[in-house]
Amino acid sequence: MLPAAPISKLKSHRTKTSILFREVCERLRHHVTSLEPGAKLSEITLSEQLGISRTPVREALIQLSNEGLVQFRGNGRCHVATLTKQDIIEMSDVRIGLEATAARSLAQTIQPDQLAELQKLALAADRAERQARSRAEWDSAEEAFHQRLVELAGNSRITELLQRQGLLERLLTLPLANWRHSAETKNDPGHKLIVEAIASGDPETCDRVVRAHIEIRKQWLINTFEQMKRAADQQ
Ligand SMILES: [Zn+2]
Repeated sequence: MLPAAPISKLKSHRTKTSILFREVCERLRHHVTSLEPGAKLSEITLSEQLGISRTPVREALIQLSNEGLVQFRGNGRCHVATLTKQDIIEMSDVRIGLEATAARSLAQTIQPDQLAELQKLALAADRAERQARSRAEWDSAEEAFHQRLVELAGNSRITELLQRQGLLERLLTLPLANWRHSAETKNDPGHKLIVEAIASGDPETCDRVVRAHIEIRKQWLINTFEQMKRAADQQ
């Protein structure tokens, strides 16, 4: 039997392994969300691209499948997840509940410097919705606002859950060429009104405005999904 390694050594080995694991997962998340839903993922190709052996790639893919980003099919092959309409409805409802909770609690604690920061991000997100020249530009302004709102609320579990949701949403909307959702945005209270609701300190107003904003996004995601499905059926 081999002598047991000193605990300090074991610990440092474990830490290094978990840092590497987190890095591989992070890189794979970004890679996967840039691909089309249903695209095949080859462990060999991924390990060559990342310059690491196949075992950590496989472990990271299992982690991503727990997060819903990839799916292992019957033959053991891994694919980028394909979402259903029911997934979109469930994801959106979860987001509505969590983000409204975050906004309600932020309304009680927000500081003047945090408010100024959110106002700036809201302005950029509202502007991007009208003027962004690319999907990436719009996404990044939109995500920056919502991510910061949730972070400032200070519930780390809500932050983490919503971050995962954001990645799943991206899987659905990235392939869409027509990314502007102008038809649905007519009734959108917009980001500026969300910040005003938070600044008012009234949790009920926050709840109502955040729900209205994300409900519109939900409707857009459902319409997007149905358009993509129709296009695929016609091929
Ligand atoms: Zn938004």
